[in-house]
This record gives sequence, C-alpha cells and structure tokens, in this order.
Amino acid sequence: MTREYLKKATLTAKSDASEVHETVQTILADIEAGGDAKALEYAKKFDKYEGNILLTPEEIDAACAEVPEKLKRDIQFAHNNVKRFAEAQKSTLTDVTLEIVPGMIAGQKAIPVDAAGCYVPGGRYSHIASAIMTVTTAKVAGCRHITACSPPRPDVGVNPAIVYAAHICGADKILSMGGVQGVAAMTFGLFGLPKANILVGPGNQFVAEAKRILFGRVGIDMIAGPTDSLILADKTADPLIVATDLVSQAEHGYNSPVWLVTDDRALAEKVMDMVPGLIDDLPELNRENAFAAWRDYAEVILCADREDMAACSDQYAPEHLTVQADDLDWWLDRLTCYGSLFLGEETTVSYGDKATGTNHVLPTSGAASYTGGLSVHKYMKIVTWQRATREGSKAVAEATARISRLEGMEGHARAADVRLAKYFPGVNFD
Ligand code: NAD
Repeated sequence: MTREYLKKATLTAKSDASEVHETVQTILADIEAGGDAKALEYAKKFDKYEGNILLTPEEIDAACAEVPEKLKRDIQFAHNNVKRFAEAQKSTLTDVTLEIVPGMIAGQKAIPVDAAGCYVPGGRYSHIASAIMTVTTAKVAGCRHITACSPPRPDVGVNPAIVYAAHICGADKILSMGGVQGVAAMTFGLFGLPKANILVGPGNQFVAEAKRILFGRVGIDMIAGPTDSLILADKTADPLIVATDLVSQAEHGYNSPVWLVTDDRALAEKVMDMVPGLIDDLPELNRENAFAAWRDYAEVILCADREDMAACSDQYAPEHLTVQADDLDWWLDRLTCYGSLFLGEETTVSYGDKATGTNHVLPTSGAASYTGGLSVHKYMKIVTWQRATREGSKAVAEATARISRLEGMEGHARAADVRLAKYFPGVNFD
C-alpha cells in the first residue's frame, strides 16, 4: 500500500519566505545604521510602543508585584523542573584529558558563552514559558550576561508574568522590545546592552529570519520558527485525545502545521470529524489561528504499517512528535528525527511546552533532521587544548614537518623544525 493523504496541506512554511527575508534584511540594516533611535521607531511602528525599553529595577519589582501568587508558584515549579533537567544535561559535559602519544596531552573543556540574548515571543500569546526555558538554561550553563527581550503590549510594556519569569530565572537585563528590533538590539548592543554572543529562543518568521541572517556574527541556538507537531497514532489511540492534541498545537498560529500519521483509516476519519468542532469551541483568537492552520497546513496521512509511519515521521522531522500507539519502547528505539518526543497518551506536548522540564525551544521546519532543541550544550563552547613535554613534542614535530612540506606549507614545517633543533641539537630527523 502506498501512503494516502486523507488531507493535504495547501501551504508550507516556505510559502512567504522571500518576502520575509527582504523585510527583515531592511530592518536590520536600518537599525545597524540608525542605532537606538531606529529601533525605537520600529517598536512604535510594529508594537505601538513608546515607553521605556530597558526595564529599571523599580519597573521589574512593580511588574513582579502584579503577578498573582498562584501563578508565581506555577512559574517557580516550571523553573525548578527546567533547571534540574538543564543541570543533568550539564553533568554530561565532562572535561576530557588524554595522553595521545607519550608526552603529548590533549584535552577538551566546555566554556559558557559570555552574553546570551534570549528572545521571548509575545505577539499573539504571552510566552511566559519561553522566558523560563531560555533564561534558566543560560543561567545553568553559566553565562555571565543574560538579556531577555519580549514584545511590549501597546502602550503598556511586557507582560508582568514574563518579566517575573525572566527575573527569577536569572535575566540581568529585560528589554521591552520584540521582533527584529529586539533581536537587533541584543546583537548590536543597543540600549547599553552587552553584545550577545548567542541568540536563543523561538519567534515568528520575522524573528527566525533575523536570527538566520545574523548567524555568523552571532551564534544562534537554531531556527525555531512557527511550531509544528506530528502525532503517530494506531488503532489503540483515543480519537478525542488525538484530535484535542492536534488542535492544541494548531492554535500556535495560522501557519503552525499539525500532521496525523496513522495506519488506521477509521481512527483518522474519527479524528478529522472531531477537529472542526474542537476548534469552534476555542476562544476567538485561538479559533482563528487553529482554523487557518488546520485548513491550510494540516495533513492526515494513512500509512501501510508502523514501519512506514515511522519512516514518514522521520521525513517530516517534526518539532514535536507524539506517539499514541502500542509498544512505546519500539517507537522510542526506532524514531530518529524530532525535537522532542512525547510517548503515550499520559503525557502531551503542552506538558513539555510549559512545565515538565525538557526544553520547549525546538527545531522547526524539518531542522530536527540535523539538530536537537535548546539545551545547556547550545550555550557552551566545546574547546580543546594541548601541552607537551619535549619528548612528546618530538614525536609530533617529525610528522608535522613532513605533512606540512608535502602540503607546500614551509612556514608550518619550520615551526616544527625549530623545536626539534632546540630540544635535540645535532640530531638528524630527515
Ligand atoms: P513574536 O514575539 O515572535 O513576534 C512578534 C513581533 O513580530 C512583534 O514584536 C513585531 O515587531 C514583529 N512583527 C509583526 N509583524 C511584522 C511585520 N509585518 N514585519 C516585521 N515585523 C513584524 O510573537 P508571535 O508573532 O506570537 O510568534 C511567536 C512564534 O513563536 C509562533 O510562531 C510560535 O509558533 C513560535 N513558538 C515556537 C516555539 C519553538 O520552540 N519552536 C516555542 C514557542 C513559540
């Protein structure tokens, strides 16, 4: 049996890519030339905001005071989980020291980048959890300077809960600025910020494109653009849970693809029947997003068997991958391309998005074929070092000189020769 599309997307994430590129390129060039003043102009244009940009300690305290105690406890709970997971990740980064040949010692160590710029999206929804995910992980990594930036609400500023989250998770600067101008401010060091060494965090297509263009002069975690999610479900899955989970991810935005991959036609049909009603039942903004995402970007794919389902999923390399099927261990073992994997009905992408502790900043648009999501490791530079005794230097010098001469690199060869001549005078090494 060949794969059958019971529903096929009419649009893909690439549909409006070139227009976005032009827009973002222009804004970045304008801000680089015009500095703070130009960034302020764009904040006014896109976010209708003319208030203070770099929050003062008093503004941070005032925002924190506005957050209800129960929400503070929830944010603290999520922060603790993300912190513990990040600490466990960091513990896997052990230093390496190895005597490669007698007397020649080589090593590896992990050094955190100095300044991290954390983008916290806030256009459609107030992504409190993104502040927790990015800032906590930077702090655990050991970055000295951590800036969080997030779009202000018109005339009001950043959502107080985002300020609270960024603050308790360890941000030392909080910027009331979003979109390309926020990314530019952290990269170019505007408003008195340290220039970021790495930009992390999700965002819409403008934010993702800004990071893509700036990559090279600044590090980035990955391109984390519009969210996408795939569910693998067999006949054991509960159609209501599958449909609810699909809708829960389609609400991210009009361009957030959700895909159902199954080998059970009856399940697929039940889910497709249920989704429109579940979308209708959402609040207005969420309904509009989910409706457009389902109409234009969603797919339902019928596969021959579970091996074909797994192969199909690996081709899509989804950001979020959920398995609601029998024999979860088989799937964990078999699947290879995903940002984060959610095994079984008892957990869901929403848990990971908000509070489980695994990071929710994940590769989108197929990038899971070559990278995982945000982790402590993304903030760390894995560097190497070496030192040698004179005997150790000798063994390497002879090979170095010969390889260099064969390459035509006489200067390199002489750097080896001069040591041999100094340490072993009178010895012929030809
Ligand atoms: P956002 O903060 O990313 O973008 C808002 C900003 O976009 C505004 O500040 C504005 O400056 C800018 N903007 C809006 N229209 C523009 C235009 N025409 N030209 C230039 N700039 C413009 O918030 P959002 O829009 O809500 O998007 C958040 C995104 O983050 C969603 O796509 C969501 O799916 C994604 N997300 C991804 C992950 C992940 O890990 N991959 C996690 C959470 C959220």
